Amino acid sequence: MKHVWFVLALLVCLPVSAQDFEVGIGRVNITPDKPIRLSGYAARNKPSVGVLQEIWAKTLAIRDKEGHRIVIITTDLIGFDHDFSQNLFNEAKKRFGLNREEILLTCSHTHSGPVVGGNLRTMYKLTEEEAATIDEYAKQLHEKLLTAIDQALQDMQPAVLRVGHGQAGFAINRRELRGDNVVLGVNPTGPMDHDVPVLTVSTPNGKLRAILFGYACHNTTIGGTTGEDFYKIHGDYAGVAQAELEQALPGVTAMFTILCGADQNPNPRGAVDYVVQHGKSLAAAVQQVIQGPMEEVKGPIRAAVAEAELEFAPHTREMFQEELEKALAAKDIYREGRARRMLELYDKGQPMRSLALPLQVVRFDKSLTILAIGGETCVEYALRCKREYPHENLVVIGYANEVMCYIPSKHVLLGGGYEPVSSMIYYGMPGPFAENVEEVIMASIHKLLERVGLQPTGTHTAAN
Ligand SMILES: [Zn+2]
Repeated sequence: MKHVWFVLALLVCLPVSAQDFEVGIGRVNITPDKPIRLSGYAARNKPSVGVLQEIWAKTLAIRDKEGHRIVIITTDLIGFDHDFSQNLFNEAKKRFGLNREEILLTCSHTHSGPVVGGNLRTMYKLTEEEAATIDEYAKQLHEKLLTAIDQALQDMQPAVLRVGHGQAGFAINRRELRGDNVVLGVNPTGPMDHDVPVLTVSTPNGKLRAILFGYACHNTTIGGTTGEDFYKIHGDYAGVAQAELEQALPGVTAMFTILCGADQNPNPRGAVDYVVQHGKSLAAAVQQVIQGPMEEVKGPIRAAVAEAELEFAPHTREMFQEELEKALAAKDIYREGRARRMLELYDKGQPMRSLALPLQVVRFDKSLTILAIGGETCVEYALRCKREYPHENLVVIGYANEVMCYIPSKHVLLGGGYEPVSSMIYYGMPGPFAENVEEVIMASIHKLLERVGLQPTGTHTAAN
């Protein structure tokens, strides 16, 4: 008889203990507390003037039954440089025992947020005071992100995860062919990815707690203007989408990460009215997903990290000597800065020949795989990965963990223009990548995904 009661007690406990996950949520306001130079546009020449929308860092800590963890951080920021990310990962290991693969740092790539540490720093001519404000902000941000991680880890409770996909149509390929040149414009026939992946976190009895969603598009709706809004802090369309969802669903934390949107812009853009329009349409797409049937996400969690070593196209000291002379004659401070940096590296005997691109995968059994690629990732990487792994529920995040420059597909690289060539000046890189860039990255992705049990089963058809 005693035995029967024991079995009954066990059955009563099952609804909670059968959950695959425990999840904790955190959030910290990261709005700068004083005027600071805004990031993303070289045309801005003074610190911010006011705040149109507050910006946030939000965290989701997920633990499976076997104790595997992943902490996903989203931020309304442009991106992170190598040192900032490494310091954060090292400190997260020290304070919370989080291994490198257990933490995923993402951003929205808003162009109306502060300059973050060393990211794109060479794009702006800063006064000493402006530089000090940026350094101070980076220090505060480091602590705030750790606080947000801590909050999530302290908040662990049984949870059900679900995944679904919607669509939003405002992203447009921005690589427009004019004459013989690719310029920043609109290219309605270029590659695009309108997928809106949505991950929800609910309590075991169905109460929604958090939504993580993404979209492959630059947060550059406020842009192409020198109006006063151009100098205000704002999360752009991603900020509006998160605020809309949090207002419509009180108590729910809405988190956004940019996907592979490096060659995608919102359309139309250039005014705050459009920010509201796009943000609302993205929030509506998310609402439609969460109101419909979603697939339950299963454990265990398997995560891994890797690096792809990307070679630059061959360059010589003479090339930069020539660039420096031309830049001085043309008073081009960006080319001058890049040439000086490269000459310095040559003189030290350390010319920059390659760089490491961080890659990360988080796989939830067979129900969801998040692949996270560093840098300003062009859309064809997401499209190619989805073609090559057609049976996997794949979400490809761009700008993840570290943004060091644009990451062009071979098609984009050969087409030239801003993303593969001229942006490299602002990022302080020696020039475009070598033509094998896409193959090197894909080979590393194949190896990484194999480590979590995935083989490519689809076919790859080159885009060019
Ligand atoms: Zn960008």
